[in-house]
Amino acid sequence: MPSAPGGPRLLLRRLREIMAEPVGAQDRLDRIVIQIAANMVAEVCSVYVMRGDGVLELFATEGLNRAAVHHTVMRAGEGLVGLIASTAEPLALSDAQSHPAFSYKPETGEEIYHAFLGVPLLRAGNTLGVLVVQNRTFRVYAEEEIEALQTTAMVLAELIATGELQALAPVETGIALRRPVHQKGTALADGVGLGHVILHEPRVVVKNLIAENVESELQRLEHAIGEVRASIDRLLERGDVAHHGEHREVLETFRMFAHDQGWLRRMREAVTSGLTAEAAVERVQSDNRARMLRQTDPYLRERLHDLDDLANRLLHRLVGRDLVVERGLLPENAILVARSMGPAALLDYGRSRLRGLVLEEGGPTSHIAIVARALGLPAVGEVANVTSLVEQGDAIIVDGAAGEVQIRPSSDVEAAYAEKARLRARRQEQYLKLRDVPSVTKDGVPVTLQLNAGLLVDLPHLEDTGATGVGLFRTELQFMIAERMPTATEQQNLYSAAFAAAGDRPITFRTLDIGGDKVLPYMQAVEEENPALGWRAIRIGLDRPGLLRAQIRALLKAAAGRPLKIMFPMVATCDEFFRAKALVERERNHLSRHGHVHPSDLKLGVMLEVPSLLFQLKEICAVADFVSVGSNDLMQFLFAIDRENRRVADRFDPLSAPMLRALSLVAEQAKASNCLATVCGEIGGRPLEAMALIGLGFHSLSMSPAAIGPVKAMLLALDAGEVGALIRRELEHAGGGDTLRPKLARFAETHGIPV
Ligand code: PEP
Ligand code: MG
Repeated sequence: MPSAPGGPRLLLRRLREIMAEPVGAQDRLDRIVIQIAANMVAEVCSVYVMRGDGVLELFATEGLNRAAVHHTVMRAGEGLVGLIASTAEPLALSDAQSHPAFSYKPETGEEIYHAFLGVPLLRAGNTLGVLVVQNRTFRVYAEEEIEALQTTAMVLAELIATGELQALAPVETGIALRRPVHQKGTALADGVGLGHVILHEPRVVVKNLIAENVESELQRLEHAIGEVRASIDRLLERGDVAHHGEHREVLETFRMFAHDQGWLRRMREAVTSGLTAEAAVERVQSDNRARMLRQTDPYLRERLHDLDDLANRLLHRLVGRDLVVERGLLPENAILVARSMGPAALLDYGRSRLRGLVLEEGGPTSHIAIVARALGLPAVGEVANVTSLVEQGDAIIVDGAAGEVQIRPSSDVEAAYAEKARLRARRQEQYLKLRDVPSVTKDGVPVTLQLNAGLLVDLPHLEDTGATGVGLFRTELQFMIAERMPTATEQQNLYSAAFAAAGDRPITFRTLDIGGDKVLPYMQAVEEENPALGWRAIRIGLDRPGLLRAQIRALLKAAAGRPLKIMFPMVATCDEFFRAKALVERERNHLSRHGHVHPSDLKLGVMLEVPSLLFQLKEICAVADFVSVGSNDLMQFLFAIDRENRRVADRFDPLSAPMLRALSLVAEQAKASNCLATVCGEIGGRPLEAMALIGLGFHSLSMSPAAIGPVKAMLLALDAGEVGALIRRELEHAGGGDTLRPKLARFAETHGIPV
């Protein structure tokens, strides 16, 4: 087997010299392939570069016909070169022509070469091209030669990344580095954001690839590995691991990988071949990334992801940079891109410079999604591999309504979205004009429009939407985004701050609604077959009264001298309400005994979200000060559809006869009992559904901030009596599960009601 003269170290040194030479792009590439061919004792060395249209084009060659340069092209998957590009793996063959994927390109004159070794040009997990060497003989390439060519490929990938070769590509396509990518994910928070990528954990771009002194690079690598191991141990010991979404399990995996001999050996070998410590980490990371992008097993992909994160930590150690972007360094129009992120980290960035958020993880009910919605920040989650697909500073568009992202969009896509964003902004302006217009229907029915909130960042929306108060304050959000159980004082402080922010507007606090999908990371999870039907909300509150009482006390104290409204979630029987009310009484006595100021007025209500309460309406309306329909859970339990399960969640329509009849029962009984009935589930914020609710007799709705404007615009054009009559008429004749949606939509259309 012929050995390379001078080995990979000498080659890297020569390449460094060539990179520094003041020559044009084509010249530089030509010199590089000559050098590689000589060093690898190969008759041929060729570079294929991936164009923006996904076609691989021969950019330079030593040994093949020169005339083929910029003429020979391969589609992805075509021929051996296409195969390497699509698998992102090296391919070594002693007889290329007998391989089934071999595709003969006569213009290259390659028929005389038998042995073939090709490696992908990888950067940040993307294949930018393919580097090939060929020999006339039927030789077998050694493992070290494959490694050496991969190391060389890194230098070439870096050259492509500088953009220097852009000028050599056809204008229409460019090279793949800047190719637009469209990815689908899950909508987390509505809105459209245009801006530039800010990686929450910025990748280190390794510029210094070639080692001056291999020994000292090896030492740097060992030192950094030691530091990373120690930092993981420290985090695990602290036990305080919820920060930045670093859960114990991930850290345990990090620790395992940090001691993985295979991984460490590959990095050490890469240094020995002449790379700097950081280039060696990146070299091994690139292979890992390529595997990750192809991995279809979600568990294995997660683990490769963990290894990728660990390599990032190592890179940051080596170049001495912080792992997380500093707030002060955030540019305008930043779109945060992260694998995952804790809610506290997002809040730390502040809202003013952010235009959007894109996550690889994070479903619609994740805590980060809750915070993004509270901030009014367009967000998309579950975007596969997005951190590998973007570069810091790339143009990116987040469509939080469709759950899509456009990475490096073409100018027409960008223009279309900019128009969409402008339209939204214009509509917002129109809604803003309605802010101080009294919320009364055309036939004179006043409708109270309130906000759903849960964090302090929600409360400024009271002012900008003109909402008359907070109809649902989800107190569990404070618990969900905290790293540990909030103390009684912390709870009281939050409620006081909420009162202060709301001014004269009333707030209806809902007591802790945890369990089911709302999990507290620091609380021991109870294994349940059906958590949605399990130990949750008021059930926990009554079984563990200490928790509920502490919260009630915090609410009473915070309200000192002000009116206070408290409601209890998931109440299934009147008895549960009585027991909760008794706890409030105890706390009121406690307040009196200790000379605290009482709320100026106290109203106690229930969420109506468990269907059993529909059959105790008269009784509950007689004892509760108000009922608030939680339509999200009511739909879930009425139709037996898991609201978290996308297969079934939207299977039935809230505007269908069964749900409308249930809602109608509530509205009628509340009216008869002179008990206030509100709707605080999502349907209250959708104009068409809100139109039906008003028709049924609900004159108080609570919704997300963005919904206030559209709902108000709808009701100002509505004759409540007329739509009520239509619904009653239709419900009399509606069979089984008929939906009234088309009829209601037609009614809105013919009456010029914006829905
Ligand atoms: C509901 O169930 O409709 C509701 C408002 O409560 P949550 O969505 O918080 O369960
Ligand atoms: Mg609910």
